[in-house]
Amino acid sequence: MKTAINVRPYQIMCLICRIGRDEEANYYFEEKLDNLQKAIMADLNQPLLLRCNVESTFRFQNPGTELDTPEGELFNLRRDLTILQRLGLTPGSVYPATDLIRLFVNELKDCSDICGAPPNSIEIWQGCKFATSGNYERGLKDALTTLGGIRPKSQRIACKQETAPQMYKHKVLEIRPHHLLCMICFLDGKTLEELQPIDEDHLYEVLEICQENPHIPIKLVAGPCMICPPCHGFDPHSGTCSAAFGMGLRDQKKDLDTLRLLGLKYGDVLSAVELYNLIFDRIENFTAVCGFTTAHRTGPAWSVCSGENDIDGRKAFYEGKKCGLHIPGIKKHLE
Ligand code: SF4
Ligand code: SF4
Repeated sequence: MKTAINVRPYQIMCLICRIGRDEEANYYFEEKLDNLQKAIMADLNQPLLLRCNVESTFRFQNPGTELDTPEGELFNLRRDLTILQRLGLTPGSVYPATDLIRLFVNELKDCSDICGAPPNSIEIWQGCKFATSGNYERGLKDALTTLGGIRPKSQRIACKQETAPQMYKHKVLEIRPHHLLCMICFLDGKTLEELQPIDEDHLYEVLEICQENPHIPIKLVAGPCMICPPCHGFDPHSGTCSAAFGMGLRDQKKDLDTLRLLGLKYGDVLSAVELYNLIFDRIENFTAVCGFTTAHRTGPAWSVCSGENDIDGRKAFYEGKKCGLHIPGIKKHLE
């Protein structure tokens, strides 16, 4: 296992904050931040161990005050703990850098309550000198391309233009199992004429291929698949997906749930018609897979794509069942 780098939660915010600085303002522990940024940019999946000083049962991981910034002990204690509380994380946990940065960017949209001073504050709660600078909020805009591994839009569009035509040349489509459900969601009962290919993935292209050739073989594969290359979550270097915090985990869970319900395994090859007839016979609705059966979000890594607390799942599934995805040979469930 790759050695994790110890990180105080506030340092991730400061990395984002520095990206938005106007002039060469000096940040505390600048060299440490430089080294952290370099390590993340060298390996987006670099494990980061979140450590902060606490007085509870979690004190086993206390890092000491060496990296406390000069605003004072209480400010430092509260800043780290507030970050973890907002993100639903606990100290002593290790996460891949790219997932963690996406969580910060998605969940911590401003720094005022974390780094700033409350009204009528006494000296020890004055907060960070950059809290009202706007640096953090500006840094958020570029944080994902600078630190989080998202390829610039121009690169993703070039990838789409290069890989979309290749999709039509494959004799066998290699698809991760739960993407077969994403195709139902994407179509939402419409015809392809009512939709457009999108820049983010190849769902449209695969649907078009299956409608034109219902017997095209589909091989079920693990992890990111032919649909993924232009996606903002896909890292071509590692071949992993981190479109959001824990995305790779919940996608794998959905893949395994799909295989289990269909009675299949990775490597199996079935035609598009055979696969969708099995799906509509054996899967009740999206909640069975995309809602992890309960439709409850059990933590920051386990969001529910089919609609939180919506046990019936999205209507797109039932629309897909009715129209058989307009793929000739798929049984239409008209009831
Ligand atoms: S305001 Fe200060 S503590 Fe907050 S992220 Fe910026 S530099 Fe870090
Ligand atoms: S990279 Fe991830 S989010 Fe993007 S299409 Fe693939 S599995 Fe889905």
